[in-house]
Amino acid sequence: MNYEKERRFAVDSVLKACGLCRRVLSALVSQDTITKNDRSPVTVADFGGQALISEQLKNTFPDDLLVGEENAGLLRAEENKGVKETVFKYVREFSPRLSPSEMLEAIDRGSGDGGPGGRFWTVDPIDGTKGFLRGDQFAVALALVEEGEVVLGVLGCPNLPLSGLTPQDTRGSLFVAVKGEGVFIRKFEDPDEHAIGVSPLTDPREAIFCESFESSHTSHGDTAWVAQQLGITKPSVRMDSLCKYAIVARGDATFYLRIPSQKSYVEKIWDHAAGYIIVQEAGGKVTDIEGKPLDFSTGRILSNNKGIIASNGRLHGHVLEAMKTVT
Ligand code: AMP
Ligand code: MG
Repeated sequence: MNYEKERRFAVDSVLKACGLCRRVLSALVSQDTITKNDRSPVTVADFGGQALISEQLKNTFPDDLLVGEENAGLLRAEENKGVKETVFKYVREFSPRLSPSEMLEAIDRGSGDGGPGGRFWTVDPIDGTKGFLRGDQFAVALALVEEGEVVLGVLGCPNLPLSGLTPQDTRGSLFVAVKGEGVFIRKFEDPDEHAIGVSPLTDPREAIFCESFESSHTSHGDTAWVAQQLGITKPSVRMDSLCKYAIVARGDATFYLRIPSQKSYVEKIWDHAAGYIIVQEAGGKVTDIEGKPLDFSTGRILSNNKGIIASNGRLHGHVLEAMKTVT
């Protein structure tokens, strides 16, 4: 199967959504309108990004369904007219022919159910909203699922340096993976791509692992326990969003561990699909914390899975063994 057209659409639309995120951030920061606890920039960029990707999907693959995090219910409410106008102002910069009602329809087309049959796309227009507001990491994620299997993933990481974890390098890394074809990284502004791969590390004691910044999204106590069992001495890299998958895929981290803080929490497919294929195609392995493959055929949520281990492959068994000691 050749995914050339799908790949081009996914890269192009994710870059547009990343551009919108950057515009929203820079405008609001320069006007000094972001105050603590003000989630408006997230709201604007979240809705705007989903509108752009969804609209481009309709124009490129009119029959394809979309499973997106957002819906336009909030924007349709009279009291949020101002927010809707702000979202529209930004969306128009990237999609000049769209009308306000078409924008709302585009956002609402993300209400797909997913599931085991056929093909659908899944999008998270801003993953890591807390990172976005802190000026840390966040990501725009888009993946294509066919017959329950992820076959393509694109991850835009506007604040992630092109190499390494400290921002000396240009910020803005885009990752593209197609099943069976490997993973490639590129700058936002330059279409040149190069292949990346996971860390070759085999000694678990040398591992660098990453985890969510937010302690409500992963149990920092449990991950520290696992690290201790593995003899890891380096501190964890705490980072928001699917960028964690990207740094495992390019070998800056050896594994990513996500142990639910709340036992009842079920992961959303858009928080993992693009990262999953990016790590797998980089030569790594992704399972849940019990070692089960991630099952993307179960609808909008990963109801057959608990937590995440995404590793360089070689250390996967060690992490799973250590996981068994978590009580
Ligand atoms: P992270 O950037 O790793 O902190 O993960 C961000 C994602 O965590 C968000 O997109 C949410 O969908 C998801 N999330 C929200 N609540 C929880 C929770 N209680 N446990 C795990 N993940 C959550
Ligand atoms: Mg998310």
